[in-house]
Amino acid sequence: MKTLDYIVVGCGLAGISFCNILKQNKKTVVVVDNAKKESSSMVAGGLYNPLVLKRFTKAWNAEQQLSVALPVYAQLEQDLNITLDYKTPVYRLFASVEEQNNWFEASDNPNLSAYLSPKIIKEVHPHIQNNFGFGKVINTGRIDTALLVKAYKKHLSNSNTLLQEEFDYNSLQIQETCVTYKNYNAKQIIFAEGFGLKQNPFFNYLPLDGTKGELLTLHIPDLDISCVLKSSVFLIPLGNHYYRLGATYDWKDKTTQPTLASKDALLQKLNRFLTCKFTVVNHFASIRPTVNDRRPLVGAHPKYHNVYALNGLGTRGVMIGPYVAQKLYDAIEYKTPLDNTIAISRYNKLLFP
Ligand SMILES: Cc1cc2nc3c(=O)[nH]c(=O)nc-3n(C[C@H](O)[C@H](O)[C@H](O)COP(=O)(O)OP(=O)(O)OC[C@H]3O[C@@H](n4cnc5c(N)ncnc54)[C@H](O)[C@@H]3O)c2cc1C
Repeated sequence: MKTLDYIVVGCGLAGISFCNILKQNKKTVVVVDNAKKESSSMVAGGLYNPLVLKRFTKAWNAEQQLSVALPVYAQLEQDLNITLDYKTPVYRLFASVEEQNNWFEASDNPNLSAYLSPKIIKEVHPHIQNNFGFGKVINTGRIDTALLVKAYKKHLSNSNTLLQEEFDYNSLQIQETCVTYKNYNAKQIIFAEGFGLKQNPFFNYLPLDGTKGELLTLHIPDLDISCVLKSSVFLIPLGNHYYRLGATYDWKDKTTQPTLASKDALLQKLNRFLTCKFTVVNHFASIRPTVNDRRPLVGAHPKYHNVYALNGLGTRGVMIGPYVAQKLYDAIEYKTPLDNTIAISRYNKLLFP
């Protein structure tokens, strides 16, 4: 039997963020992950952006999240010897004069002015057509989340701390002072399974809805831009004339099967502003771990004080993952109370009606 500080289930943005804190604090861990290719972190566009570009408002806690998240990715880049953070502005395509006016108003707001350039940009590239111009958002970028997951798993595997398997809930024994899973004994277990939480008998009472999203990888030989374009879709440069186009939002379909309807919808939106030829080279789908009230799900199980959830990263896992992982670690190790907006205790009534 191996004795550890933690068992972490799930090696996506949530699990990796938590393991990174464990490493810094010299805690021992084993990670259990079923290696699903269509996990949310493997498919994500990876954008981080402190604004909600539909309404030109700030996203929930965006500044605190970014100030925690960006140093974490920088640290992971060093530890794993890879490039993860591609800092790039986002150009918002305006659909009307009214949107231009809303942009001017927002860029005047001292709360938002650090992120919005007040100037309207007329042209980004000859093959990007937009009658009402573009607004530039700064302090934004993309994290290569798929590369992060692959590299992190390799790093865990090299140190014999990765179990590539479906977590067997029946093999978990919970005692007052520890948890035991197969040959591992740990002080606590963290479930960071993304949408996989639906199968977790401890936490499946939580209102994790899940929102399916689809993305395409395109090759656009005549387009050479390094900024992200945002209309009703994102076009994200990956380098060498490859781009990621996304994403769709489907609240009904809970499969990870790519669909022709979503592909057509994405391409129709792209064709409204792209005027050159392209080929579709890949098509992905996954389920975002979204929650009814759009806030993360963090904290101890109401009955078992050493069994925790780290979930509900929703549509913004890149920014939220490192932030909530730190909150959970502080709650466990330093007894820092979790804010009610993220604590799963807000849903205790669902378990004890
Ligand atoms: C199309 C799309 C586009 C997106 N774009 C962005 C974006 O641009 N910016 C952004 O910030 N966010 C984006 N997201 C959201 C982001 O991907 C998620 O918020 C984030 O990746 C969730 O991370 P997670 O670790 O909670 O879950 P996951 O990434 O799903 O990781 C969970 C892990 O646990 C494993 N697992 C689950 N159950 C079990 C089990 N029983 N046993 C063993 N292992 C298990 C899974 O295989 C997986 O590896 C996007 C999501 C989608 C689908």
